[in-house]
Order: sequence, then C-alpha cells, then structure tokens
Amino acid sequence: MLIETHAHLDYPDFAPDFDDVLRRATEAGVTRIITIGTSIESSRRAVELAEKYPNIFAVIGVHPTYVEESGEDVISPLRELAKNPRVVAIGETGLDYHSLPSIELAKERKISQVFAKALQTSTEEQIEAEIHDGAYKSKQASLFEQQLELAAELGLNVVIHQRDAWDDTLEIMRPYTGKLRGVFHCFGGTLEQAGEVIALDHLVSFTGIVTFKNGASVREVATQIPLWKFMVETDCPYLAPVPFRGKRCEPAHTRIVAESIASARGLPFEEIAEATTDTADKFFRFAR
Ligand SMILES: [Zn+2]
Repeated sequence: MLIETHAHLDYPDFAPDFDDVLRRATEAGVTRIITIGTSIESSRRAVELAEKYPNIFAVIGVHPTYVEESGEDVISPLRELAKNPRVVAIGETGLDYHSLPSIELAKERKISQVFAKALQTSTEEQIEAEIHDGAYKSKQASLFEQQLELAAELGLNVVIHQRDAWDDTLEIMRPYTGKLRGVFHCFGGTLEQAGEVIALDHLVSFTGIVTFKNGASVREVATQIPLWKFMVETDCPYLAPVPFRGKRCEPAHTRIVAESIASARGLPFEEIAEATTDTADKFFRFAR
C-alpha cells in the first residue's frame, strides 16, 4: 500500500489513457493519489477529479511561477474550493527564483551572471532586470504568505515548492511554525537542510530523482533521515524514475521510488510503504 503524494493528474499528458494510468497505479499498490493544483483552474480540475474518483484527493493552490498570470485575488476562489471535503491540503505554493528576470536576460545574452557582475556591466537593461527581480520576488512572497494564512485559517497543511530560494522560504514560513506543517516536495537539498525542515516539524518528500545516476546526494539524504519524516511522490508527468527516465511519469512509479529508498536503506519495501503511508495519512486531511 502506497500513497502517491504529488501528481499532476489534471495535465493534458494523462488525458489519452487516464483510466489505464489509474489501473496501473492500483496494480502497483498505489491506493491513494494526491493530485496537486498549480493555478486556480488547475486546482478546480483537481477537485473535479477527486470528486469523480474515490482514490484521488486534491491539493489546491497557485504555484509561484504562475504569479504573473494569477489574478488579483486567488484566496477567495481557493477558500471556496477548500470547502470541498476532498481537498486535503493547500499547495503547491512557495518560492521559485530559478528564472528571475535578470537570469533570463543573462541567458539571452549567453553570459553568466557571475561574469556580468565581474565585468560590472551595470547597463540600464541590467539595472532594470534587477528591479524586476525584486518585484517578482515580492509578488511570489505575497502569494505564498496569503496561501499560508489561508491554510492556517482552515487547519490544513501545505505542499511547498522551493527552488533556489531556500532562506526566503524558511523565513516566510517561520511565523507559521506550530500553526501548520509543510512538506518540501521533490526534496533536493542537503541532509542539513532536511534537518532544518524536520526541526520545524515539517516533512520532505522524494521523487524518482532517488533512482537517477546523478541522484546520489538525494539518495543519501533519503537513506539518512528518520523513517517517519518523509513521504514518496512522483511529481508526474515529470521526473520519471529509472528505467523510465525521459518518458512520461505516472503515479504507478511511486512504487519504484519507494523500492529505491528501501534498497538504499537496506529495509524491506513493506517497511518503507507502511511508514510513508502512515506519515501521509497524518499529514493530509483525508477524512474531514
Ligand atoms: Zn508539482
């Protein structure tokens, strides 16, 4: 028995063979699938799927990289959607500084930021890009805070997306310590960072990256952290584990993620399945 804690089942990738995807998940022992919203529209579709299929549950939220497209008020529609008992958490929300305007500009010019800084080529264009960076970051921060506030108000936990924004993410979450718990999904940090998260009573979850040849450091973290402090996920349709790497990922692959962690820890698969299922069962609000 496994819970796939992070799927994007509403993405068009799954439309052609949706029922087969669910069947394969069941055959792999994945008894519950949590589908994650990334925008208001995607969250609405997640809720629809959760209403239609008894083994699918929804997490609703607006992803940080959708901050520019999201409307002025995302909280009213989210609060409305959260009334549905199939909604088990808020997310995914957080911070993503991977594609800041200044980084995009540097990419366009095929020069690294470090190089540009070293040359001190503070052209007007660059100064402007840095101003945009600040505005973009503060919009993300506001969207993130609003969703944390909503989660705390509703007594729900939060699925966290964090990329290249570690310190700011923890800073924004700090006032919510003890009010809600977060899962740092698709965890790719160090053991120390995992420890920081756990010390604040949050969790991490691992994807198919634990099976990658270049995933040794994540695999090591998955081996070292306490058995009750992590969950398993796929982040499908992305990040298909070996031997499906590069193909479409699907919830059935949660089993490969769990098997890989079990073998890295030298434990029977059943033990990982039981622990991660129990952890997910407590983290998400399944029966409310
Ligand atoms: Zn995701």
